[in-house]
Amino acid sequence: MDVSLIIRKTTAGLRVVPNLVDYDKERRTFTWEAARRELAGLSGGGLNIAWEAVDRHACGTLRDKTSFRFLSSSAAPRNITYDDLSRLTNRFANVLRELGVSRDERLFIIAGRIPELYIALLGSLKNGTVVSPLFSAFGPEPIATRMNLGQGKVLVTTDALYQRKVAKWRDKMPSLQHVLLVAEEGGSTNIPGTLDLAGLMAQASDEFEIERTTADDMALLHFTSGTTGMPKGAIHVHGAVITHHATGKYALDLHADDIFWCTADPGWVTGTSYGIIAPLLHGVTSIVDREEFDVERWYGILQEQKVSVWYTAPTAVRMLMKAGAEAARKYRFPNLRFIASVGEPLNPEAVRWGKEVLGLPIHDNWWQTETGGIMIANTPAFDIKPGSMGRPLPGVDACIVRHDAETGVVTVVDKPDVEGELALRRGWPSMFRGYLNNEERYRKCFSGELYLTGDLARCDADGYYWFVGRADDIIKSAGHLIGPFEVESALMEHPAVAEAGVIGKPDPLIGEMVKAFVSLNQGYSESEALRMELLGHARKRLGAAVAPKEIAFLPTLPRTRSGKIMRRLLKARELGLPEGDTSTLESGGT
Ligand code: AMP
Repeated sequence: MDVSLIIRKTTAGLRVVPNLVDYDKERRTFTWEAARRELAGLSGGGLNIAWEAVDRHACGTLRDKTSFRFLSSSAAPRNITYDDLSRLTNRFANVLRELGVSRDERLFIIAGRIPELYIALLGSLKNGTVVSPLFSAFGPEPIATRMNLGQGKVLVTTDALYQRKVAKWRDKMPSLQHVLLVAEEGGSTNIPGTLDLAGLMAQASDEFEIERTTADDMALLHFTSGTTGMPKGAIHVHGAVITHHATGKYALDLHADDIFWCTADPGWVTGTSYGIIAPLLHGVTSIVDREEFDVERWYGILQEQKVSVWYTAPTAVRMLMKAGAEAARKYRFPNLRFIASVGEPLNPEAVRWGKEVLGLPIHDNWWQTETGGIMIANTPAFDIKPGSMGRPLPGVDACIVRHDAETGVVTVVDKPDVEGELALRRGWPSMFRGYLNNEERYRKCFSGELYLTGDLARCDADGYYWFVGRADDIIKSAGHLIGPFEVESALMEHPAVAEAGVIGKPDPLIGEMVKAFVSLNQGYSESEALRMELLGHARKRLGAAVAPKEIAFLPTLPRTRSGKIMRRLLKARELGLPEGDTSTLESGGT
């Protein structure tokens, strides 16, 4: 790259000495055993995320410090201290115990970013109950699919979300025994077949002895999208907390005095690992905003809440850029000292925009649901090459491999600047431990000691990684992974649809937009009214975050001889790109 574009690391004017100063030395000396010793562990042995995140601080000097400050447009900010959080999560754990919900059983949460979500998640971990927060913008179908895959026994949600997304589908969720409801403003929890969470919490004790979980016990279940099947439930264990702590230190540079704002929703892995766990581990105060993206609101929060470390996403940065530098200049951010972003490629212009408009470059970092925590990052310890995801963190060994899909042979590429699949050497504590009920798919992710990420990348001579694309058809829209199969299945449920193929169409703002191609059954003909009906049908089933934004009609869809829809070809045709190898195309496919 043009070296004049590199953003040089600087210590000039830094108010805080970064946690990571000498990258090479830290990588040489770092061990995960030593990283574990930075945490307390349960007395008498064992490891529990909630103990490390909450109670360890609540019984120490951080007792009265604010852990979370919850913001919403309709109420005054609500501060919850570490001590409050400890007691509230104890109460929640007692509620579960009273209901007979035990260790290893599964609890799902579908809620906006309200305090109860955070309390339920951490309280479940105390009880050893496995917790899975789902994105509240999911429609009923993705919710039911995930609840059934995960065998959810308990659901924590709000009255409105329950009525809209669960009630009618409840008989399709045989494992679900208890629904704990939070009343939304003006709502009521008086709904048959559900329990009032506030009432149960009021009766529960403040005291709870945390279950003696071990580092290998399952803690969290995060669903991620697949290309050919239904979502996969990535299993994470309590030991992941070691990675959350180490990466909060190195990649987010968290210091105890920080006011931290992670804008991700806990329905996605970033919002749990870094919106809940990592900041608590470092004893910082986190801002949680219930509202959706809004330029003025976000700049206002950065200024008024005196945010010092901000972890956000490229789509949000691009939306701020679109609003223009003037919008930012009405605000002052003297407290802001570190900005990081994750989830999708961060354009080089966005990195530089951060420096020009906010006074700080944006540090891109890379990871995925399966890795449980940040693996590759731009840190304060080295120069930023805008457009690069950075370098592997201490304790993380990455490489580029050639993966022959036919023979399964994987070879490590030892030359710089060669494109291939990004792989990581096993051994970091937050590595996922399986896909729920899908051992075979899990095994396929590994070749010997290497975990194959499914991302294409290259590594330059200085050890910086550059994202190239996905190795599969999975779509990344506004930072969220969307499995085309799930969208296709929902479209196919409409009587008019004979076949459906879904692709990610490049979009300057949200990265990729979900676009569907459908062919129609006999008796139906294409019309604007039918297109609108299909868009509405998909939105109702899947929710706004997953549903296609565009639908096009085709007489038939291109398929391979074995019958698989060739999404790659649909995409190439949509973008006017070369069609590549079409030797497996079924004759007659258009
Ligand atoms: P998820 O599992 O939903 O967190 O999505 C993980 C995927 O998001 C990765 O496998 C990448 O395809 C993409 N991703 C995450 N971070 C970055 C980044 N910094 N640059 C480019 N793509 C990213």
